[in-house]
Amino acid sequence: MSAQLINGKELASEKRESMKKEVEMLKEQGVKPGLAVILVGQDPASETYVRSKHRACENTGIHSVSIKLPDTVSEEELLGHIDKLNEDDAIDGILVQLPLPKHINEDAVIERISPKKDVDGFHPISVGKMMIGQETFLPCTPHGVLEMVRKTGIEVSGKHVVVIGRSNIVGKPVGQLFLNENATVTYCHSRTQNMQKHTKDADILIVAVGIPKFVKDQDVKEGAVVIDVGINRVDGKLCGDVDFEEVKEVAGAITPVPGGVGPMTITMLLENTIQSAKARVRS
Ligand code: NAP
Repeated sequence: MSAQLINGKELASEKRESMKKEVEMLKEQGVKPGLAVILVGQDPASETYVRSKHRACENTGIHSVSIKLPDTVSEEELLGHIDKLNEDDAIDGILVQLPLPKHINEDAVIERISPKKDVDGFHPISVGKMMIGQETFLPCTPHGVLEMVRKTGIEVSGKHVVVIGRSNIVGKPVGQLFLNENATVTYCHSRTQNMQKHTKDADILIVAVGIPKFVKDQDVKEGAVVIDVGINRVDGKLCGDVDFEEVKEVAGAITPVPGGVGPMTITMLLENTIQSAKARVRS
């Protein structure tokens, strides 16, 4: 393997160690950071994510509350839970696990969360602030990606960053964060023509497509940093959107799946919750 492995698990655990100390300090000032997660229905992947978030909170000393609702819950009832959490002084962050059942309007749900507690960074106010470079909660997966690239020590400013994927939760915001860091950003998506022309020119290639092993060695420039956001299950095994075995021979640095972006996503969620609790101390 020629590429440096960007170990998300290791970086996440380093960060969580220092977060434990921050949480201790907050507790000494009488504030215990609190995160509430709302899960609607019984999607196995969502249940796994919610369990991981709960465990990560426990390990870091963050108070965590899970609210499980049946998939028959009405939008009104769900919004009622959010209203209560918005008013709850013990809760610094509110997260509604997506996707939601079809009868519930996701936008209305996201917009009901107080921007002060929007630790997922999906509220239009948070998105807008991120866009114009104001301080706000940054969305967790994109922020985790930026932290991982920083960890490689390469200078982001002036680099060509190519993002494959333009979803609201990963693709679009991750490109914006790199633009804020003075990278030159290209987005590719399902309508992009001659995509390889773009990806081959990337100094940093970020892949968030949701198709197993979508990116091959011939798509990547020698020495590029490759960040694989994808989480796919093939024959019961987790794999990313990048063909790791092929691409690691060409890339300069690469994230694995599992053990790459995933652990960093949860870590950035904890960081946002702590940031919100600090604001509570100041208020
Ligand atoms: P998504 O909403 O399905 O978006 C996928 C994007 O890929 C879309 O913008 C789509 O383009 C583009 N795309 C699809 N087929 C393509 C093709 N053949 N060529 C080029 N672009 C194509 O997915 P997402 O929510 O962004 O998630 C992407 C992946 O990341 C999934 O595997 C997901 O499980 C994973 N994920 C991981 C984490 C983590 O913590 N590691 C967090 C979130 C998501 P159009 O817009 O044109 O349709």
